[in-house]
Amino acid sequence: MEVQRFRRSVQGAIVLVLLYEGWRFSRFVAHFREGAPYVPRPPAVEAFLPISALVGLRSWTGTGVFDRVHPAGLAMLLAALLTAFVLRRGFCGWLCPVGTFSEYLGRLGIRLTGRKMTPPRFLDYPLRMVKFLLLAFFLKAIFLDMPAEAASAFISAPYNKVADVKMLDFWLSPSGLTLQVTGGLVLLSLFVQNAWCRYLCPYGALLIIAALVSPFKLKRDRETCIDCGKCNQACPSYIDIQGRSEVSSTECIKCFRCVTDCPVPDTLRMEPLGWKRISAAGYGILLLALFFSVLIAAKLTGHWTSAVDYREYQMLIPRAWMYTH
Ligand code: SF4
Ligand code: SF4
Repeated sequence: MEVQRFRRSVQGAIVLVLLYEGWRFSRFVAHFREGAPYVPRPPAVEAFLPISALVGLRSWTGTGVFDRVHPAGLAMLLAALLTAFVLRRGFCGWLCPVGTFSEYLGRLGIRLTGRKMTPPRFLDYPLRMVKFLLLAFFLKAIFLDMPAEAASAFISAPYNKVADVKMLDFWLSPSGLTLQVTGGLVLLSLFVQNAWCRYLCPYGALLIIAALVSPFKLKRDRETCIDCGKCNQACPSYIDIQGRSEVSSTECIKCFRCVTDCPVPDTLRMEPLGWKRISAAGYGILLLALFFSVLIAAKLTGHWTSAVDYREYQMLIPRAWMYTH
């Protein structure tokens, strides 16, 4: 299958699954608030609790106890980190629903304006640092300032237990400020490709750091390259592929759009550690296998479903608005 169709199918499937799980979660919450028929809580909604997952990681590394409240969130964080460590940032280009949304907004922007806009360098570079500053803030607050016992207490606190419910409420009844910020980001994403991922996503910044040692870099064969510039034009991360023999930029999200648009077969290719060439589709399969093997392992070993039981949710969910951190 042509790699872009494969990648978009993966992106589409993930978005559909998460929308379906989000709908099931809203029915789960409605059961406790409005007496709607009971729907079991889907653990996948914990994908939207990255900060809770980081606190879970802090607690696990400090106390040895795996997060029992949002174990799926921690499992997904570990899976994403593992993929970055081995395969660089394919998570952003293939699996992240926010990345997918950003990508399609960027495509829409190109369609509307008729060209790919390039942000000015003097603004682009400092803005790209913002995501690292946000990450540093979270890492300091969670890994330096928070003792392991405090992280453990946070995980067991009512606020964290209903953090997913509060997240649902946040998006179902957005404040004026939320709408303005989201609208601003949507608008920016029409003109700057992957604006959220490029400038603001601390999760992406974390994956960049994890990805530093991975050997999965695209290489450009100078002998066969005809300098047509199509790779640069296709790249949503504004990387100058044409000007280098190896794409070592941490902004590369392994979308393979450069490979798809390159008119000379095999000029852009991946040969990690001097292995045999790995095709773009092969990379995608490897990424999916690695990511989902962690999730399957979590499920098989009892690290997927929350230990918070029906009775506790019965008490917490109707009062979710009361709990703050
Ligand atoms: S270098 Fe290629 S694979 Fe990396 S982000 Fe740019 S287009 Fe995608
Ligand atoms: S698209 Fe391929 S041939 Fe054209 S400049 Fe890029 S690497 Fe060279």
